[in-house]
Amino acid sequence: MMTPSEADEAGRARYTYRLRVSSTARTALLAEWDRCRWIWNECVAKSKAIHLRNNSTGEKRTCGPAQLDGMLTEARERTPWLREGSSVPQQQVIRDFGRSRAKASKDIRERLPHVEHGRKARARLTRYDRMMARRRPRKGQATSKGYREAKTWRAKTYAKIARQRQETGRKWAKKVVTDHDAIAVEDFEPRFLARSSMARKAADAAISATKRALIEMGRKHGRDIRLVHPAHTTMDCASCGARTKHALPLSERIYTCTVCGAVSPRDKNSAHVMRAGLNPAGAEGVRPPGALLPEAA
Ligand SMILES: [Zn+2]
Repeated sequence: MMTPSEADEAGRARYTYRLRVSSTARTALLAEWDRCRWIWNECVAKSKAIHLRNNSTGEKRTCGPAQLDGMLTEARERTPWLREGSSVPQQQVIRDFGRSRAKASKDIRERLPHVEHGRKARARLTRYDRMMARRRPRKGQATSKGYREAKTWRAKTYAKIARQRQETGRKWAKKVVTDHDAIAVEDFEPRFLARSSMARKAADAAISATKRALIEMGRKHGRDIRLVHPAHTTMDCASCGARTKHALPLSERIYTCTVCGAVSPRDKNSAHVMRAGLNPAGAEGVRPPGALLPEAA
């Protein structure tokens, strides 16, 4: 099957090959990988422990590659099993770990905050709902003062939640707009979510309101904001451009390409597909007239 990006790079071939090693080499390699895996797990445990400690004591300790490298040197001195292996792949594991952790924490920092304002106010809303139900006038009767009061309180609580959501959305949008020149936004209507189990969370994150805030903020600061058509963002492969036959079900969090074999977290894959969609042909620009910024290619 020819995919668009394959067609561009005509003449390039991909081979799958298998390395057959002797049983001695195989044992040695497996032992090497065992050590590397142990070190990775140890990095995870150490960094987690320090994070928990910082959280509970308020200390600001770090657990970067330099510290981990020091720990590795110590561990190699103490443990003959670890010392048997080469230090090169072991140190590389630490560097890889540091890189993935930095990337992961960056992703977490930039994530849309999910504060669930609605959840906090739910108890109050339920109370007002019950009050209203109790005080509801019978047919033909005028509404009581108590009923009207409960109705006002309920409306006020809803308005407060909406304001809080807007505030969170605006703060987040401000941060995103400050950090980026060009932003691709998936132009989707979160209508289908309303009927799924994610409904409450989706309503709470107020996706539409946040999207609106992002677009407004981008316009205000002269950023290049593009609305990317949502079709196929969960079906295309970000690395080779192949399209799967079916949309990924929401429960499937990992995207695996059947053509090139690329594996990536679902949302990340979509984000990369959308970044590709930043090209002017594939996206509807909502860039403000007069803003002189280089177009993202
Ligand atoms: Zn692919």
